[in-house]
Amino acid sequence: MMQKTLKEIAVWANGEVVGPDTNRIEVAGVSTDTRTIEKANLYIPIVGENFNGHDFVTGAIKNGAVGALWQKDQPNSPADVPLIYVDDTLVALQELAKNYLASLPAKVIAITGSNGKTTTKDMVTSVLSTTYKVQKTEGNYNNHIGLPLTILRLQEDTEIVVLEMGMSGRGEIELLSNLAQPEAAIITNIGESHLQDLGSREGISEAKFEITAGLRENGTLIIHGDEPLLTEKVDQSPFHVITFGNSETNDYCPAHIQQKSNGTYFTLKDEAETEYFIPVLGKHNVNNALSAIAISKQMNVSIPDIKKGLEAIKITGMRTELIQGKDGVTVINDAYNASPTSMRAAIDLLQDLKHYKKKIVVLGDMLELGDKEETFHFEVGKGIDKEKINEVITFGQLGRKIAEGAKVNFPENRVFAYNDKQALIAKLKGTVEEGDIVLLKGSRGMKLEEVVYELT
Ligand code: ATP
Ligand code: MG
Repeated sequence: MMQKTLKEIAVWANGEVVGPDTNRIEVAGVSTDTRTIEKANLYIPIVGENFNGHDFVTGAIKNGAVGALWQKDQPNSPADVPLIYVDDTLVALQELAKNYLASLPAKVIAITGSNGKTTTKDMVTSVLSTTYKVQKTEGNYNNHIGLPLTILRLQEDTEIVVLEMGMSGRGEIELLSNLAQPEAAIITNIGESHLQDLGSREGISEAKFEITAGLRENGTLIIHGDEPLLTEKVDQSPFHVITFGNSETNDYCPAHIQQKSNGTYFTLKDEAETEYFIPVLGKHNVNNALSAIAISKQMNVSIPDIKKGLEAIKITGMRTELIQGKDGVTVINDAYNASPTSMRAAIDLLQDLKHYKKKIVVLGDMLELGDKEETFHFEVGKGIDKEKINEVITFGQLGRKIAEGAKVNFPENRVFAYNDKQALIAKLKGTVEEGDIVLLKGSRGMKLEEVVYELT
């Protein structure tokens, strides 16, 4: 983590330090949260919607912080605390991170996209770790606060940093990319998340493409080549562009995919002799693995090491997580989040699986899709194959539209819609038997993991 004196930090944060002996106060790392503060941290108070971090500066010092930033427009700064006065504490946090990162030898790989950022980040890290010292974004620390905090935690001898970049509107990824100045960037796909804020898929793709804002000259840009909204943008690109996807025109495309109960085997179009294995299910995860292979080859990782890294991946929880549940029932917990693209990917995956007695989908509302939300839900339902799925169970008001869509093809007695989670759980418990598999997926707000816990 960053280790500097308070005085040095003031220069990086573009602030004015006040207090005695500030060039002797050694800071180790930063924190924005007094509850998790560690000894010798610099406390950075952020002015939020519900809380103002400046109210907690004295407490932060009590808990071990050796100093704090202070935003000039905030009243009543404590007299007895070493402070760095700045115009804006959030901007100062970002500047601090930017300067710290620039002082390190580490190369940055930035990852964005509508779905699969965290999964791809975990895969890229696992593979590159076979050969390099790698650090990554922890959990989902992917925004304008989380990303600088991730950077300020980097160790000085880190060789590669893998950073997830998330957004909820225009300009956010541009800021993160300029801050991190990546050597390589990956855009996993373009879906429909944030349609409400960005208006169209075109708008979403432009926002994701902002990841090139800080990409270094001659940097590598890895994109999902099956997405025209991305390929049309790289025609005249100054970057080294690599594409991946299911279509054969891509630089990296799978030739032969086999889903087994423990994971997925695949080969590459131009490399039939090597069989790769990932301990996760779903063709969408093969796509995530393709971009991990692409970046790893670019960074000269050997094929045996790439194979080893992919086999060892640990995916952050609730993302297409395969669980052996109670009474011989298998559960796919994909309750982390949902959008039409990711829901279709999950349903496809279940449809492809063999050797299960009954295959049941439990699908909840997909939120924040804007004014076409009902159509999106209906279409997802209509797309479910009645030959490959036995029952469709939906949860929530929008989920009901999935059920309506499913009834276009399914007989009425195989489709059920619930608004009450307890009733849904009771129904599910009465239906599942040994040898069945259940997929659970919905937006974060639907908390479908509560149903998962009942089955596992
Ligand atoms: P967030 O925006 O919440 O940070 P994320 O982009 O990091 O999400 P993940 O957490 O990796 O995405 O995956 C979330 C869900 O998206 C997974 O559970 C899976 O259902 C789906 N998913 C993952 N990768 C892909 C992909 N390449 N294409 C479509 N869907 C995917
Ligand atoms: Mg994520």
